[in-house]
Amino acid sequence: MRFLKKGLQKNRLSFECFNTSNGYGYSDLGRDTLERIYSDVFETEDALVRPQITCGTHALALALMSNLRPGDEVLSPVGKPYDTLESVIGIRPAKGSLAEYGVTYRQVDLLAQSELDYDGIKTAINKNTKLVTIQRSKGYEFRKTFSANEIGELIAFIKNIKDDVICMVDNCYGEFVDDTEPSQHGADMCVGSLIKNPGGGLAPVGGYIAGRATCVENAAYRLTSPGLGKEVGASLNVMGSLIQGLFMAPVVTANALKTSIFAANIFEPLGMSVIPGASEERHDIIQAIELGSEERLLAFCRGIQAGSPVDSFVTPKPWDMPGYSDQVIMAAGTFVQGSSIELSADGPLKAPYNVYFQGGLTYYQGKLGILTALKNLYDRNLVELPML
Ligand SMILES: *Cc1c(COP(=O)(O)O)cnc(C)c1O
Repeated sequence: MRFLKKGLQKNRLSFECFNTSNGYGYSDLGRDTLERIYSDVFETEDALVRPQITCGTHALALALMSNLRPGDEVLSPVGKPYDTLESVIGIRPAKGSLAEYGVTYRQVDLLAQSELDYDGIKTAINKNTKLVTIQRSKGYEFRKTFSANEIGELIAFIKNIKDDVICMVDNCYGEFVDDTEPSQHGADMCVGSLIKNPGGGLAPVGGYIAGRATCVENAAYRLTSPGLGKEVGASLNVMGSLIQGLFMAPVVTANALKTSIFAANIFEPLGMSVIPGASEERHDIIQAIELGSEERLLAFCRGIQAGSPVDSFVTPKPWDMPGYSDQVIMAAGTFVQGSSIELSADGPLKAPYNVYFQGGLTYYQGKLGILTALKNLYDRNLVELPML
């Protein structure tokens, strides 16, 4: 109800907000109201929420590139960041990376059991450290996901050493899983994609940055232009979906979470290792299952596809995806292309044949998708069901 009272009602959401703008998009009521709602939901000074932010990687690149200057250093205290950020930072050489602009990077790996290496972090912070990037979700790494509270403790530790460091959280897949967001625990920016949790399945595109006014202002000047900032950016008919999507997001996220928990409780008793475990606490919507063979991986993903509302009749095939060393199989029968708040699964064709999946707009469809995957395994004699 925080969303309703402190978000939509407080900001006087009205029917006029669903009107659209074109051209420069000056004084777009829907856009400006949506941004105030985001900043109230995240309890931040300001927010930039735009369809012109094309995806999560773009939102993160924007937050980084607009708040860093040549000579600054970025620190990741939680190990290697998400794959696509390697090009943004320049860990993997790429045109236009932060490295090309003279921004350096330092990383402190996690200790055993995903513990933070506080001594290492203390040593890594130096006079050039300007921004710390903290990835909340495990993404596709085998590490734990950090809770909003744990992130808060890490931020307090960092600010105690250097109080003017900007703490940015890659919030992808973590939004609205915990009761609070990292911005309520000291994060200067929370950043993510609208075709994951906060779009509630209704947002057709977009990304957000919610945070300190100065950080958001920098990002706005970089997204549009110095001098223009948040004043321009036509909303092209999507504001109604972004606002309604945020209103739906906590419930949709809960459905995705229930789907993951259901799957873990199906596959763990079948002897497969699942991360997180069936009864473990969760801080994001991703579920990993170690399937153990290529046949199982293919059958699982094809079952998820067959249980989807869109493209249920197509058969996913492994392919050589750019940036990956092994072939990857992906299942996604989604209303919005690549949307991973909708039930979707993928896995690289390499031992131990882990499948990663997430989403489920409704628990009913999520459950059906998981059961269709299980049936596909069973029909091919790839799994025994001891209860039968
Ligand atoms: C999805 C994701 C991203 C990147 O988002 P895209 O929309 O795919 O560009 C970054 N970080 C994490 C942890 C993610 O889950």
